[in-house]
Amino acid sequence: MKQPVKRIAVCLMTILLLCLCLIPAAMAEGTAEGAAQTATQETAAQETAEPTEKPKATAAELQEQGILTVGAKGEDVKKLQQRLKDLGYLSGKVDGQFGGGTKRAVIAFQRKNGLDTDGIAGQETLAKLYAEDAEAAPKDEKTDVLNGDKPMLVNKEHVLDEFFTPADLIQVNTVIKKDLATVKYKKTRGVKAAVEALKEMLEAAKADGIGKKWQISAGYRSWDDQNNVLNSKIKSYKSKNKGWSSSKARRAALRSVAEPGASEHHLGLAFDVNKKGASSFAGTKHSEWLNEHCWEYGFIIRYQKEKEEITGFVAEPWHIRYVGVEHAKYMKEHDLCLEEYIQGIEDGTIDLSAILGHEAGEAEKAEEPVEPEAEEPEPEEPEPEEPGTEEEMSGEGDAA
Ligand SMILES: [Zn+2]
Repeated sequence: MKQPVKRIAVCLMTILLLCLCLIPAAMAEGTAEGAAQTATQETAAQETAEPTEKPKATAAELQEQGILTVGAKGEDVKKLQQRLKDLGYLSGKVDGQFGGGTKRAVIAFQRKNGLDTDGIAGQETLAKLYAEDAEAAPKDEKTDVLNGDKPMLVNKEHVLDEFFTPADLIQVNTVIKKDLATVKYKKTRGVKAAVEALKEMLEAAKADGIGKKWQISAGYRSWDDQNNVLNSKIKSYKSKNKGWSSSKARRAALRSVAEPGASEHHLGLAFDVNKKGASSFAGTKHSEWLNEHCWEYGFIIRYQKEKEEITGFVAEPWHIRYVGVEHAKYMKEHDLCLEEYIQGIEDGTIDLSAILGHEAGEAEKAEEPVEPEAEEPEPEEPEPEEPGTEEEMSGEGDAA
C-alpha cells in the first residue's frame, strides 16, 4: 500500500515543480506580448492621427520598389505629378509630395484608363501613365443640360462620366432664402433655371398655406460626391447587419442609391425636397402638395412606386427633377415616367413638336432652355396619387 502512495506523491511534487518553473516564464512571455501589442496600438493611433501622411517608412520602402503612394516624395513624385498635370488630371502643385490631391488624380487617371482605382502608382499604372496611348482627362467642358428638345435621361443604362459638369451651377441659398426653405447644406448647388423654378414653386406652396419647414437636402452632386454617398450607405448597411458581406451590402445600397455616373443629381436639375423634422416625407401635406403641383413649375416626381420596374429605383416622393413645364405637364397628364416619355419621343408615338409648339428638329441648333412660364398655366387636372404607404426609406436625402 505504501509504494503507490509514495509514487503518487513523487509525481505530484514533480508536477508542482514544473508548474513553478513554467508559470513565471509564461508570465514573462505574456508581458512581452502585451508590450508589443501596446506598441502596435500606439503606432496605429499615430497613423490615424495623421490621415494624409501614411507611415513614412512604408511609403519610402514602397518607393524603393518603384511604387508611389501617399507619403512618397522626391523627384519620382514630381515626375508623376507633372505627367498627371499634363494629362489634365492634377490641378494642384507639382511639389514632389504625394498627398491626397495626387492620390485623387491617380484614381481619376486609373478610372479613365480602365485600371484598378487604388490611388497607388504601381507598375501597371506607371506603365500606362507614361505610355503614348495614355488617355488624357477630358477638357474642362461644361454641358448646357437644358439645351435640347427633350430632357436628358440619366439612369442605370444612361450613365455620365466622372468629368461631366453642368453649366450655370449656382448656390441654391443665393436664390432660395430662409423664408421659403432651409437649405440643409449651404454649399448645395443647382442649375440656375432649375433653382429659380424651385423658388417659384416654393412661393406657390407658401401662397397655398404650405410654407413652413420645407427643406432642400440635396442638389447637384459630382461623381466623387455620389461615390461618397454610395460608400456611406454601404457602410451603414454593414454596420446595421453584422455578417453581411461587402457585396451584399452594396447590392442593398444600390436599390436606393445610384452608382456614380447614374445619378440624376449629376445634372444639377434634381433636388431632394422634404419636410424638416418629419421622420417620413410620404404622407405629409408637403409631399401631397409637391405631388400635385410640382409639374406646374417644370418638375416631376422622378421615382414613383408604380414605375419602380422601369426606373430601377424604389419610390422617392422627395426627389424632384426639373425638365421644364411642357415636358412635365405631358408626363403628368399621361402618367409617364421619364424613361417612358423619352421612349415615346424616340419611337414617334409622342409628338414632341406639338408639346413644344415648334418643330423639334430646327430647335436643336439654338434651343433656349425650357424655362417655366412666369404666369400660371391653364388649370391643372391633378390626379393626386397618394404617396406610397410602403415602408419609408431611411436617409431620405441620400437617395438616387
Ligand atoms: Zn435625390
